[in-house]
Amino acid sequence: MNFKDYVNKHLDLLNEVKGIDLINNFKKVFPFSKESNLTVKHFNIKGEDTDTLEATGTVSSESDPGNSYVCMAKFHRENNELPFSLQNMCKVSCNCNAYRYNLSHPNSKNSSQVEPIPGYASIANTVRNPDKNVGVCKHLYAFLHFLYEKGIIRNN
Ligand SMILES: [Zn+2]
Repeated sequence: MNFKDYVNKHLDLLNEVKGIDLINNFKKVFPFSKESNLTVKHFNIKGEDTDTLEATGTVSSESDPGNSYVCMAKFHRENNELPFSLQNMCKVSCNCNAYRYNLSHPNSKNSSQVEPIPGYASIANTVRNPDKNVGVCKHLYAFLHFLYEKGIIRNN
């Protein structure tokens, strides 16, 4: 199953499972952003044998391919038999400006951000994200796609 179908398969869990809301709101917050294939340059996975997985990745910038952003996604499972998946994704962050300006505030308010970004977490963006949707930026979207393709996050 491709990543888009994987995401769509979970739509009935909207508003129940935070990880599904985060990824689904990508289109709401960034309606003009393409789900482009940004390149993940480096990645690091911690805790794959525990109940909490922390994935960090460096994703290239679309406008400036020499530049890149750091994405983080955290997953927490109830027991170690379950796979890590969008259903147990709990926190994200990216150090790009789109994330900072549009998502840092709602994500930190909803405990969906790995760490608060000083100076931004307290400011709501009433223009681009008036409904204060939690969500992911295109780098995080690409990084989650990558984790799915690698089999690090899976169906459950
Ligand atoms: Zn980003």
